[in-house]
Amino acid sequence: MQFISTRGSASPVSVSEAILKGLAPDGGLYVPESLPAFDRGLIDPEISGNLSYPETALAVLRPFFAGDFLESELEAVCREAFSFPVPIHWHNEREAVLELIHGPTAAFKDFGARFLAGTMERITEHEGTPLTILVATSGDTGGAVAAAFAGKRNISVKVLFPKGRVSARQEKQLTCWGANVQAYSVRGAFDDCQRMVKSAFMDPELSAARHLTSANSINSGRLLPQTVYYVYASVRYLAKTGKKPVIIIPSGNVGNSVGAYWAKAMGAPIERIVLAVNANTTIPDFLASGVYEPRESIATLANAMDVGDPSNMERLRHLFPSIEEIRGNITALSVSDGQIQETIGRIWQENGYAVCPHTAAGEYVRRTIAQDSPAMSNSPTMVVATAHPAKFETIVEPIIGESVPIPPQLAELLHRPGSAAEIDPDSLAFLDD
Ligand SMILES: *Cc1c(COP(=O)(O)O)cnc(C)c1O
Repeated sequence: MQFISTRGSASPVSVSEAILKGLAPDGGLYVPESLPAFDRGLIDPEISGNLSYPETALAVLRPFFAGDFLESELEAVCREAFSFPVPIHWHNEREAVLELIHGPTAAFKDFGARFLAGTMERITEHEGTPLTILVATSGDTGGAVAAAFAGKRNISVKVLFPKGRVSARQEKQLTCWGANVQAYSVRGAFDDCQRMVKSAFMDPELSAARHLTSANSINSGRLLPQTVYYVYASVRYLAKTGKKPVIIIPSGNVGNSVGAYWAKAMGAPIERIVLAVNANTTIPDFLASGVYEPRESIATLANAMDVGDPSNMERLRHLFPSIEEIRGNITALSVSDGQIQETIGRIWQENGYAVCPHTAAGEYVRRTIAQDSPAMSNSPTMVVATAHPAKFETIVEPIIGESVPIPPQLAELLHRPGSAAEIDPDSLAFLDD
């Protein structure tokens, strides 16, 4: 299978090249040249309901790796990356929650980051060149990437975060790794961190000499594994309810949603995909007006979704080239901070179930479509839980009036010692460390 650029003027590449390059040379994003239909067995609950998560991952991802040197490594990559549970929680027999929150950093980004790390480690070995991954983070992404790459051979990771502007728990997840993962506390804002990373990448000599690469959410190696849980969960949903679910996804850069649309296009039993966004309404406004207008992002309680120009929209627009197709396939609803807070309280009262602010946006949308959308009101729904509520305890605990137990894998990280070098935002000297 070859990967092509959404902008159409870069040469097709193999999947390992697409992963190594990240962005296509024409500035576009790599997408698979086709989305092959799944084997019937993979979407038949009788057969695939018995596959483990890593076995499902291997079956879903194999066509994308056909002909690449990574094909023979795929089974091991899946087994190593997906070593934690992926349960479905049922509020009742029509309402489920797909819990993508049981990885090492308790958020769905563990799936993409761990798969990317497994493939990149093998690519560096194959090419014989070590890599340095540079990440600027305002919190969550950096933690998932740091955790995923810790201990990987021939790869060093440098994470930049704004000093004093990430939560104590987030900071621990960035600074506790040692060895090949170095954290830098930048005396500045997130924008300074991002500018430092960009200026390093934009210096071709520096970038080539240090073999710099990124691990951000536009990398195909993070996107592809995000198709797997939609197959795994929709098949199980169908087996239990006899119906295909409407899947509701808390969305920012829409990478998670692209995974769902690809899974549906390949035949996963999904009725419809609905995006829950926060006060950043670029996508709902685009659906209404037909004009795509990126904005500055607005800060909200669901901060991992604070995106004004969702980078993976380019992949969705490639999949659905006309506004009619976009409107036919995408529903997106905006949820305010007040509605998020109210929903955290309601879901706790109704179900004794704590949700993070992002998942709460999904739960709010679940209720909205049940009330307002006749076409979907009879369909059973599945909300995607994108982060564990214990990561957002300062928001969740005052609302539910109880403390949220910290999941063991996260507690283990929080007990490790952390260390970060403090640096000024105007020098790239840290690359010499
Ligand atoms: C990144 C993130 C999102 C948004 O996912 P996208 O793929 O960017 O749409 C939602 N919730 C949480 C907790 C996240 O970390």
